[in-house]
Amino acid sequence: MSIHIQAYKEISGHCFNSSVALVAVSKTKPVGDILALYRAGQRDFGENYVQELVEKQPQLPAEIRWHFIGHLQTNKVKYIAPFVYLIHGVDSFKLLKEINKLAQKHNRVINVLLQVHIAKEETKFGLDETELEALLHNGELSLLTHIKIKGLMGMASFSEDENLVRAEFKSLKYLFDKLKQYEISNLQPDILSMGMSGDYTLAVEEGSTMVRIGSLIFGDR
Ligand SMILES: *Cc1c(COP(=O)(O)O)cnc(C)c1O
Repeated sequence: MSIHIQAYKEISGHCFNSSVALVAVSKTKPVGDILALYRAGQRDFGENYVQELVEKQPQLPAEIRWHFIGHLQTNKVKYIAPFVYLIHGVDSFKLLKEINKLAQKHNRVINVLLQVHIAKEETKFGLDETELEALLHNGELSLLTHIKIKGLMGMASFSEDENLVRAEFKSLKYLFDKLKQYEISNLQPDILSMGMSGDYTLAVEEGSTMVRIGSLIFGDR
């Protein structure tokens, strides 16, 4: 077993004291490591790849809340729709519609976060502020009664520059606060998912309500 149990206890204590939820990111790690952390009390786990999640989920306790934190392709929603607890990386209306369709099929409501692009780095993923607003103004959004938009997710630049990272988190917190002005039946913004192993203390200072931590707990990948 290679999990860092002492680091886990410190991080979960820090999160508990700040009323922040901790998602343990277990991508590429074996089910034995996940089970060990489960036995230490952890219930929220995050995975990036559909295939890996679908293989691990039936081997592990049903009490685990599975967070999908990777980039989700529309044609793969069906594999995780029966059990996923929260999908963090939604960045299109098309994907929201597909999640809604599959959630309805399984007679459930699936919680999602909209991913916002806050980093300086180039990436294909995430909405910018204009796209986020366009999505929220889409008149069809409230018709998706089998999804609940619980908030926003973002990733800061992978950088040593604390001021840059902090400014990016601030920009996401600002958009999150603005979400609360909308009155849309399936929008209930109470989760701001930001912060990873390298920057979670900054993220918590800037208003994160949920951090996603992998390598500090499970070791390097
Ligand atoms: C891998 C990953 C994490 C965890 O990264 P660490 O640096 O190992 O803590 C968090 N969020 C997302 C979206 C990831 O892909």
